[in-house]
Amino acid sequence: MNSIAKNLVDWIDVHQNTFIDLSDAVWGFAELGYRELQSSQLLINALEGAGFIVEKGVAGIPTAFVATYTNGTGSIIGVLGEFDALPGLSQDCVPYKKPLVNGAPGHGCGHNLLGVAGIASCFALQQALAADGIQGTIRYYGCPAEEGGAAKAFMAKAGLFQDVDICLTWHPDSFNATSWANFLANYRVVFKFHGKPAHAAADPYNGRSALDAVELMNVGVNYLREHMIPDARIHYVITNGGGIAPNVVPAEAASLYSVRTPRIDQLNPLFERVKDIARGAALMTGTELDIELNSGMSNMLLNATINSVLQGKMEEVGAPKFSREDFAFASEISKTIPSDSLEQSAVSYGLDAGAIKVLKNSVLHESVLPPYKPEIIQPGSTDVGDVSWVVPTGQFVTACQALGTPGHSWQTVAQGRMGIGHKGMIYAAKVMALGALEFMQNPELVHTARDEFKKLLLESNYTSPIPDGLKPPIDG
Ligand SMILES: [Zn+2]
Repeated sequence: MNSIAKNLVDWIDVHQNTFIDLSDAVWGFAELGYRELQSSQLLINALEGAGFIVEKGVAGIPTAFVATYTNGTGSIIGVLGEFDALPGLSQDCVPYKKPLVNGAPGHGCGHNLLGVAGIASCFALQQALAADGIQGTIRYYGCPAEEGGAAKAFMAKAGLFQDVDICLTWHPDSFNATSWANFLANYRVVFKFHGKPAHAAADPYNGRSALDAVELMNVGVNYLREHMIPDARIHYVITNGGGIAPNVVPAEAASLYSVRTPRIDQLNPLFERVKDIARGAALMTGTELDIELNSGMSNMLLNATINSVLQGKMEEVGAPKFSREDFAFASEISKTIPSDSLEQSAVSYGLDAGAIKVLKNSVLHESVLPPYKPEIIQPGSTDVGDVSWVVPTGQFVTACQALGTPGHSWQTVAQGRMGIGHKGMIYAAKVMALGALEFMQNPELVHTARDEFKKLLLESNYTSPIPDGLKPPIDG
């Protein structure tokens, strides 16, 4: 590690409590997607306090912002941050289920850590730019509503990443690894059926049930599953079940669907088939149908150049070592985790049976996994996907939780404001800062990453899944 890099890592170590406090405050706010008013304001205050120029309310989203610090010309490196929580996951920092406030949101995906590690890396880089005369621009993207809101897809569509050379991001996990897996492209779409009310006993023949249409659509889609491509996913909830009176034919009913495919070019064909089924349900029931696309996001376009740099930095810094207290807490958490959970997540990082057997003897990951085959599909979606199609993007994960901790769980919330989560966050900040520094000091590497990106774009057919004119689903 050269002296600039060493100073950068030391700077993060010296200032780590500032970032831990910021992250804990965001954890405490636990605001849902597009409603992160306090969380975004806190992060904006920190960035402005450090001399970053902050553009607020970007892409028509009140809680989205872009913060920039420039020193001369040179590469523009973007860092993505998130800060939204999940509904119903309020949880105290104890290794058993204990909501702080029943039914309230909680940071079940660790986005409090995610957003603040990015800021820590930007501040450390700023020191290097100011003190060591390195030329370049650091840009922190405050990205709301990762959980289903697809804010980054709207931000990408709005052209906010147009001039960025490289983007870096990370995510809390139970492993330390660079992310080589593909995520699923995803549409969220509302199907609203409109029928006619009637007395369900006296004159049901005058009624047309919107709820019948919702049910028939669901049945139809469930038959479709056998005939769709492997690794596609479709799931739904009924958001309007037609009311509370069984003696009234429901005139209005609605469902919210998520349709997911491994590649963005597979998404529209499957979506069209789901729409046909909805139209069929409307025909069968004599109801009217409105289809409203809520949001869309693409799969990830991998960039091996950036991921290789990040892999090197992860190994160079070295995975954090956890304390006796961390291990004790993680052991208690492990007892509450489903037995196949570790295996499932380990497979998605390309680990074989032998490696998984070794891991089963531990509760916390203290090394760095080797890169794995990019064909592996992570059965989830991220709006980082759409950033990765407009700017070369690298991503990694760090161990912020006991091994096998399920996503979107109370266990994630509990660990996100403790030593385990904090150590993973500080490690992530160092890796991103060093990665960004490497690209700033080495323009040839930026060219290599961008050449790889351009070549992949030529082979693929990308259009934003956000149709022209679609507004972010800020009001739900
Ligand atoms: Zn997340």
